[in-house]
Amino acid sequence: TFDVLVVGGGPAGAASAIYAARKGIRTGVAAERFGGQVLDTLAIENFISVQETEGPKLAAALEEHVKQYDVDIMNLQRAVELVSAARPGGEHEVRFASGASLKSRTLILATGARWRQMGVPGEEEYRNRGVAYCPHCDGPLFKGKRVAVIGGGNSGVEAAIDLAGLVAEVTLIEFMDELRADAVLQKKLASLPNVTVIKGAKTTEVKGDGTRVNGLTFEERATGEARTIDLEGVFVQIGLVPNTEWLEGSPVELSGRGEIITDERGMTSIPGVFAAGDVTTVPYKQIVIAMGEGSRAALGAFDHLIRS
Ligand code: FAD
Repeated sequence: TFDVLVVGGGPAGAASAIYAARKGIRTGVAAERFGGQVLDTLAIENFISVQETEGPKLAAALEEHVKQYDVDIMNLQRAVELVSAARPGGEHEVRFASGASLKSRTLILATGARWRQMGVPGEEEYRNRGVAYCPHCDGPLFKGKRVAVIGGGNSGVEAAIDLAGLVAEVTLIEFMDELRADAVLQKKLASLPNVTVIKGAKTTEVKGDGTRVNGLTFEERATGEARTIDLEGVFVQIGLVPNTEWLEGSPVELSGRGEIITDERGMTSIPGVFAAGDVTTVPYKQIVIAMGEGSRAALGAFDHLIRS
């Protein structure tokens, strides 16, 4: 059994493990895929103090850093159930798809999130080669180019406003006949000269030349007519899905969007169970933020252990 068991091996989980291990307590990390979303990222230019790196390089560095400590790393383990302690101060249990089960006095849930994909031809093929999901991360890579933003909710409209200051032209494509973003954002969007909004349009394909994105095809829903626009980038902004399906049925309190609710020390609604990173309600999903949150949750867990 562990003092701290971290579930998830992305930036939040790695930071939690290092902070916990440095307290000299029994620490384990179980992850489906050590490295997390960082493994799917190409250029990273906003990891403060590192001017430029690549996802797989950062993921390897995370694992290397964790391995400097006495931490049990259990990779390729997918958690399927959380059984919280029956009594205060008791052990929590995490069950895995492999049939294994681990017990720990405290848990840090850091299972991250995934971007909702459109599921159209070309999207997967050109991921990181013109198809992007994070404007804060990849916006500057499209400086002076033409991009589309898919999705007219708050995140899509925010992305379009953000990108309009960097790129040559932005086309925002919304499936419904109206944008769903807050009025103040829509007003700001409408004031920008290099943004075109297309409503009632269903994206059908991301086109490319075999190396990079060069266009986007959509269908006008009213007429059924297909149209293609030439561009260099497509930002998909149709939602971020927290990896909390495995917590459904557990007493861990989730928000309406399925994100884990935590307090200022990163503790969830269950004493001794903490959470950090993209899986929580904390806004602005970024690597440095996930690491900060992970460190905080580990310190919170340590604090909890010495008091109970
Ligand atoms: P994740 O990285 O999602 O890690 C979650 C971990 O939990 C993984 O190990 C996963 O395998 C594991 N897991 C999930 N479910 C289970 C389960 N049931 N059981 C066990 N383990 C499980 N941020 C930046 O700051 N800069 C960038 O340039 C940048 N670029 C990005 C580019 C792309 C394409 C993407 C997708 C994201 C990018 N981000 C960027 C966002 C950043 O990657 C995330 O904010 C960060 O990885 C969140 O860390 P996390 O540890 O909370 O979650």
